[in-house]
Amino acid sequence: MRILIVEDEPTLCDQLERAITAAGHTVECASDGITAHHLGDVEDFDAVVLDLGLPALDGLSVLRRWRAAHRNMPVLILTARSAWHEKVAGMDAGADDYLAKPFHMEELLARLRALLRRLGEHASAQWQCGPILLDTRQARVLVDGMPLQLTSHEFKLLSLLMQRKGEVLSRTELSEHIYPQDGDRDSNTIEVFVGRLRRKLPAGCIETVRGLGYRLVEPGCAE
Ligand code: CA
Repeated sequence: MRILIVEDEPTLCDQLERAITAAGHTVECASDGITAHHLGDVEDFDAVVLDLGLPALDGLSVLRRWRAAHRNMPVLILTARSAWHEKVAGMDAGADDYLAKPFHMEELLARLRALLRRLGEHASAQWQCGPILLDTRQARVLVDGMPLQLTSHEFKLLSLLMQRKGEVLSRTELSEHIYPQDGDRDSNTIEVFVGRLRRKLPAGCIETVRGLGYRLVEPGCAE
């Protein structure tokens, strides 16, 4: 999944970035409200971790602007421990969940998983497609019960394909998911990653839809 982290405190931002990346996601960071608002406005994220106390534009205003513009990605807000009114204001502004600082990273990751599950309408932390099982909690993949070794790019690619099983995903969409920075994006390399992933998965899982992109199907159901 592609996650936006908005936090102006460098140490915390760094910790969040490391933990969320280790959980198998692609992360982009913003340290002020104006940059955050812009990113959330023009790019697609699967979820946002949003600190409320930010320079340039406060987190609540960022959230209100997104919601007014129908940007409906799940948002987890970070609030000051004692400021209960921030939680109320945040939920009223359209936050999906909140966490008071200081928090345990494990709790943040669990809340993020819950938000992403709701997003994908998956009832558990495990996604299944035929013999393929992807465990979002442990960031691992099993095929017929046997662990599959994937690089982090391959894992991100498979996560998105599994979350949106049966849907055709364009090369652009896949590369935006894998590469957080515009400059790194190259849709040709997506073909390389898809090719490698395809060789590791049971035959027929990843269909090429000519001119459109790729789609994950249950092996054996492919035409
Ligand atoms: Ca702050």
